[in-house]
Amino acid sequence: MAVTTEVKDYQNLIGGCLQPHASDEFLDSIDPSTGLVWARVPKSTEEDANKAVDAAKRAFAGWKTALPAERAARLRQAASIISANGAELAALETKGNGWVIRETTYGMIPVLVKLWEDAASEATVGGRGQTVPTGPSSFSYTLREPYGVIAGIAPWNAPLFTFSIKAAYALAAGNTVIIKPSEMAAASSLRLAELLADAFPPGVLNVICGTGPDIGTALVSHPDVAKVSLTGSGGTASAIAQATAGKPKPLILELGGKSANIVFEDADLDRATESMATASIFTGNAGQICVGGSRILVQRKVFDDVADRLRKRMQDLALHRLGHTLDPRTTMGPIATKAQFDKVRSYIDLAPTEGATLLFGGRSGAELFPGSPDLSGGYWVEPTLFAADSNRLRVCQEEIFGPVAVMIPFDTEEEAVRLANDTEFGLAAGVWTSCLSRAHRMTALLEAGNVWVNTYARVGSDLPFGGVKNSGFGTDSIGEYSREKSCVIEL
Ligand code: NAD
Repeated sequence: MAVTTEVKDYQNLIGGCLQPHASDEFLDSIDPSTGLVWARVPKSTEEDANKAVDAAKRAFAGWKTALPAERAARLRQAASIISANGAELAALETKGNGWVIRETTYGMIPVLVKLWEDAASEATVGGRGQTVPTGPSSFSYTLREPYGVIAGIAPWNAPLFTFSIKAAYALAAGNTVIIKPSEMAAASSLRLAELLADAFPPGVLNVICGTGPDIGTALVSHPDVAKVSLTGSGGTASAIAQATAGKPKPLILELGGKSANIVFEDADLDRATESMATASIFTGNAGQICVGGSRILVQRKVFDDVADRLRKRMQDLALHRLGHTLDPRTTMGPIATKAQFDKVRSYIDLAPTEGATLLFGGRSGAELFPGSPDLSGGYWVEPTLFAADSNRLRVCQEEIFGPVAVMIPFDTEEEAVRLANDTEFGLAAGVWTSCLSRAHRMTALLEAGNVWVNTYARVGSDLPFGGVKNSGFGTDSIGEYSREKSCVIEL
């Protein structure tokens, strides 16, 4: 594998210290904009996983009984550390998975800082139980308690965000945590672990890197891991369910989607198409977002109009500027890994054979950068738009996880609901309409964990975030990282 000149090695954080892993094997981190190796991350083994669980278990008693105000202070310190090191973390995230620097710097870092601060605020109030009237002869109340050791398993598409949303709320509730970043893009998470090493008592936060088969299974099936939170694919969710089947443990599963973005003829089409062209699927990380609005359902009367507007905006070269991901002018990055690139490419090739019509894009790889040898090895995919008559095509049913969307026409509101819900997934949906009654009818009828009207991907720590159907269950929140105990005192 070709390498860039400087290749840095990263280490695990276990028990408050950076530690060499048990084997001498590393995994290459590849910059997806060039295809070159730029870092190496630990290929940890079960021995490292066990060490991390031991450290987290030892730290639990002290962290659980720490005053909420102390936990809050340390979480606030974490927010300050992220803020102070934002430029470095943003650049590592960009190198690791190709999400463009303008968005990791100005979008992601402020979101992370706010997330750790919100978790700090929750730490002081989120762990409170309640008193329950049970008659004059008894006094009853609930205690909210942390679970113990939490394993947080993260994907490659948003490593620092998934690290943060799992760790911050689990720590706020009084759990100790092991984060396993994806082996495909782990450097930013391992550096964040190093930066946070002194923010928490030793063993409270541990971060180890390795593959699913090497350490993922060992972590989730470890008897001392009390709860698992996965953000990832349905296949991994099934593997975890099987690995924990002998001794069932609570899971939070944040999985994939095939979300519908629905445009009614009464919508503000300028706003709807602008959002679709920039924010719902054709994003700075090339559509590799779980909530990507990959099915664009459009009322037949305005279908051609919306298609023309979208095509025109996508043709505007300034809009989707693929290029050096560390260049602040670049607005869309590459696909994060070669395997994912091959998968996205295969769906682009499949669509016309299923009867879909290409409206825009379709090119990939070196053909996008013929005169640019440094970028021609990158995993580039052009923003790609298809039109189809049926929602049953594979490209309309399976998660592609790239900058590829399919437009499908509908006639009535009932048909829009039926098509939107005609998928195994239930993560998100968008509705564009100027009719308030219709907006409320749609939010009630759409089978999705998140529904946005006249906006898209409005996600924040002020609202719960999760999926239904095969998009998973549970949310990374302080409520789900603690459990209620009922206590009755006979007087
Ligand atoms: P993945 O399921 O392949 O991997 C996710 C993590 O699971 C990685 O850290 C991997 O090493 C680990 N893993 C793999 N096998 C394991 C096993 N047997 N036991 C324990 N851990 C194991 O997912 P990915 O390809 O990294 O990420 C893309 C997927 O994540 C997409 O489906 C996307 O929709 C989903 N996603 C969902 C959300 C959400 O909030 N719902 C957010 C981001 C991504």
